[in-house]
Amino acid sequence: MYDPNNIFARILRGELPCNKVYEDADTMAFMDIMPQSDGHVLVVTKEPAAELFDLSDAGAEAAIRTTKRVARAVRAAFSPDGISIGQFNGAAAGQTVPHVHFHIVPRYAERTLRGHGSDMQDPEILSQHAERIVAALREA
Ligand code: AMP
Repeated sequence: MYDPNNIFARILRGELPCNKVYEDADTMAFMDIMPQSDGHVLVVTKEPAAELFDLSDAGAEAAIRTTKRVARAVRAAFSPDGISIGQFNGAAAGQTVPHVHFHIVPRYAERTLRGHGSDMQDPEILSQHAERIVAALREA
């Protein structure tokens, strides 16, 4: 069921690069490479699970703890008007990477969201955005 070669599993193993903003024993957070808005971060579990239902309770707790912590830093770094937090289970729900993850998507009143997984961000901009979040986490 779980594909150990999905993109996020490979990022977790260090086989693919990412713009990491946070890591602890149970989770990692990095910039979405096709952000729907500036500051869009993904929180992934280290526990191998395709969907939320496959995750242990401890894994789910760790994921939401990190999501809250990183979302607070995203809010401090980008001052959005709001933040959407989302998690998709199954292709029919819009899940494209079969490893459980939470989206932290800042919302800006005057800007419409970009498409889900549609436009690659300039790597330099992504790196700058990651630095802003890392700095906010350091100050938290
Ligand atoms: P979902 O559709 O909920 O499974 O979300 C997968 C997300 O992963 C999408 O928003 C993609 O833009 C994002 N994504 C895909 N490949 C990468 C990657 N290599 N690094 C960071 N984000 C990625």
